[in-house]
Amino acid sequence: MPWRPGEDLRALLELVAPAGCAGCGRAAHRLCPDCRWQLRATGPRPWRPTPCPPGFPPTWSGPAYEGVVRALVVAWKEQDRVDLTAALGEVLRAAVGAAVAGSPEHRAAVRAGRPVAVLPAPSALASSRSRGRSPVRDLAAVAAGRRAVVPALVLTRAVADQAGLSARQRSANLGGAVRVRPGLVTSLVGVPCVVVDDVVTTGATLGECTRALREVGCAGVVAATVAATARRGRTDPGPDLPRTGEPD
Ligand SMILES: [Zn+2]
Repeated sequence: MPWRPGEDLRALLELVAPAGCAGCGRAAHRLCPDCRWQLRATGPRPWRPTPCPPGFPPTWSGPAYEGVVRALVVAWKEQDRVDLTAALGEVLRAAVGAAVAGSPEHRAAVRAGRPVAVLPAPSALASSRSRGRSPVRDLAAVAAGRRAVVPALVLTRAVADQAGLSARQRSANLGGAVRVRPGLVTSLVGVPCVVVDDVVTTGATLGECTRALREVGCAGVVAATVAATARRGRTDPGPDLPRTGEPD
């Protein structure tokens, strides 16, 4: 076995002080039944930000990004609670299913046995590197089920941290920043796509991903996220959120 200092240390710390529930801190549970219930209580619903950025795709989302749900997403993304990937991925899988069922192009592809691609939204380069993993891609793998995960969406340039930016600033920050990897363009032509992300806030990221996919000629774009910001049109993510990996 290769020596993995980070993981070994984490395993050791777990023995000394096992992590409690990521949602409420309750000991003896990594995700307690109450918090798991709250995560699943709201089935996928169609969601649209206000104001709605140009090109924002039809989007299905799970629970509101607040309280326990927000605690779980932040722990998963910022505190390396990779053990939550399965539970969050299950919520995302339901949203992907609803998004596919709600789109004529996607339904037609499924009926004809043609592929529907699941594409993780790209993470900000700096935050992905500092975490050393690609959490949204891990989530997509759980959510996709038997569908193909196509990691085709990439950022073409560094973008500023989205935290603290208004909806308009987020749009400007991301404008033209997403593209499809050249080597994967032909595999997406004529293919209906589902862009997935952990949280949708202003919709700037999903709008930008959709623009990039439409430019290469895919057959239709919908999106699915685990959670959506509770207050529509909210532009300030709040002072108590971590600065890195902010949902956008
Ligand atoms: Zn709990």
